[in-house]
Amino acid sequence: MIPLIVLLGLCLPIITLCYFTRCLISPWGTCIRCRPGGKNRTCRACDGTGMRPRLGWQLYTYARRLHRNGTR
Ligand SMILES: [Zn+2]
Repeated sequence: MIPLIVLLGLCLPIITLCYFTRCLISPWGTCIRCRPGGKNRTCRACDGTGMRPRLGWQLYTYARRLHRNGTR
């Protein structure tokens, strides 16, 4: 029988890879705050667009900016 921790260690990189692939395919997700009612012009989280960048995409842009600033 395979220990649970080994199984988890195998699954986690696959899930992470899938998530980042999804982030690359569609970096813009729907806004959590105004999702039930669709677009909300007064929403401050997405500025009324109803779209928000995913957390993975935000991390990617942050890392890219950090790298660019560091190598300049
Ligand atoms: Zn919103």
